[in-house]
Formats: sequence, structure tokens, C-alpha cells
Amino acid sequence: MIEVSNISKQVSTAEGTLSILDKINLSLPAGESLAIVGPSGSGKSTLLGILAGLDLPTAGSVSLNGQDITAMDEEGRAAVRAGHVGFVFQSFHLLPGLTALENVALPLELQGDKDALKTAAYYLQRVGLENRTTHYPRQLSGGEQQRVAVARAFACRPTILFADEPTGNLDTGTGEKINDLLFDLNKEEGTTLVLVTHEYNLAARCGQRLVLAAGRQVEESAIKKQPAAKKKAVINAAVANPKVQGSKY
Ligand code: ADP
Ligand code: MG
Repeated sequence: MIEVSNISKQVSTAEGTLSILDKINLSLPAGESLAIVGPSGSGKSTLLGILAGLDLPTAGSVSLNGQDITAMDEEGRAAVRAGHVGFVFQSFHLLPGLTALENVALPLELQGDKDALKTAAYYLQRVGLENRTTHYPRQLSGGEQQRVAVARAFACRPTILFADEPTGNLDTGTGEKINDLLFDLNKEEGTTLVLVTHEYNLAARCGQRLVLAAGRQVEESAIKKQPAAKKKAVINAAVANPKVQGSKY
């Protein structure tokens, strides 16, 4: 369960204060999926980082499974992340000096899991890489590297998985397979899934969509009312010409 109340993010720059996010609200029940969509620079990654407890908003609150992470210190947030949160990034973020198996096992070992290698082997098999366990990242294709990253994320049994443009560096066919894997594992493990994407097809597979334009939330009810075939056009129009509101749900 993710609950976000009126979060805003401002940063100081040489040119003055820059508003990156403005009064974002959302509520995502456990086990459901949310796509954050919007053009480049609209604040998607910043929002994802705040939802995951990697970054703090300037105002507003975020609670994960009933715990207000914006009221915690960094140590508290780190504990929530370790216990609940998994990540998949666009650029895979594998350690080049470790094999596929070691990459998946590392976060488990850091948590003191004595069965880390066994669990890692199981999740590599779940993503179809049982024959690549001793390969290093440079010996794997992009799609295979992202499968390792997906296995690493799910091996820690997160209750919430965050993915930032997980197929952004992959060709369409390979990306589709990664998307199928994310949705299959999400369903099987009962994980809550939050993903940032440019791809309309992927956004459409999620239960909810949060459309951002220049850091502001675009009214989605306008999108919901449309027949499926028209939704893409409505999202595109909304992103190009945002009708902004502070609270959506
Ligand atoms: P997206 O993921 O949608 O492409 P980001 O969340 O990465 O967008 O960034 C949103 C905007 O905020 C961009 O214009 C980016 O340059 C700016 N931005 C993000 N983080 C910082 C920061 N720490 N300092 C200054 N500007 C930032
Ligand atoms: Mg981004």
C-alpha cells in the first residue's frame, strides 16, 4: 500500500528555486500496479525516488505499508527500503566484477541471509537464466542483464517493486519479454508494482496511471472515460496541454 499526500519537491539552482514536483497525490493498494507516465524532464524519476524513500520531498508525506517514510531519519528509511523495496533501473546497475549469481545473491548476503546463493539460483531460474549463472554482465545481452536485475530485485522479496524505464535500453521484442516477466512475477509474488515508462502499451497494462506534465499531475478521469482506443490520444493531448489539478483520487 502506497499513500502519497500533496508532495512537492523544489531544489535550489544557480538560477533560483526550481519546482520539480507540485502537489502530487496518489493511493495504490497492495498488489496493484501504477504507471507513472509523462515526457522527459516531467519529474517521473524524482517522484519514483521519493516514493521509494531514496529522496525526500520538500513538502507532503509518503507512507509505505502504513509507515510514514517522510517522517523517518535516513536510517529508518534504509530499514524500510531493505525490508520492503526492490528496484529495477533502466541501465541495469549490475556489478561488473560479479557473476549473475553473485549479483543476485549480494543484497541477500548483505542482509545476512545464509541461503543467499540458493535463493539467487532459484530466482535466476525463474527469469530463465539457469544456464547463465556463472556469466559476468559483459558476457550477457542487455535483455539478459535486465533479467538478472529483475531476479535480484525479486530475490529480496520486496512488497513493493519500483522500476524506472525498465525496458528503455532494450529493443522492443526483448523489452516485451521483460515486461511480461515483471507482470508475471508481480502477480505471483503479490508485489505492488510502480513503474515509470514512456511506452503507452506498458502503461495500459497497469491498474492505475499517473500522468505528469512539468511536475504536475494531469487529471486522469478525463482519460478513464475514454474507450481504450482513444486513451493514447487523450494521454498525449493531456501531456502536451496539461489541465492541472492538485488532487486526483
Ligand atoms: P524524468 O524522469 O521525468 O525525465 P526527472 O525527475 O529526472 O524527470 O527530472 C525532472 C526535472 O528536474 C528535470 O528538468 C531535471 O533536470 C530536474 N532535476 C532533477 N533533479 C534535480 C536536482 N537535484 N537539481 C536540479 N534539477 C534537478
Ligand atoms: Mg527519468
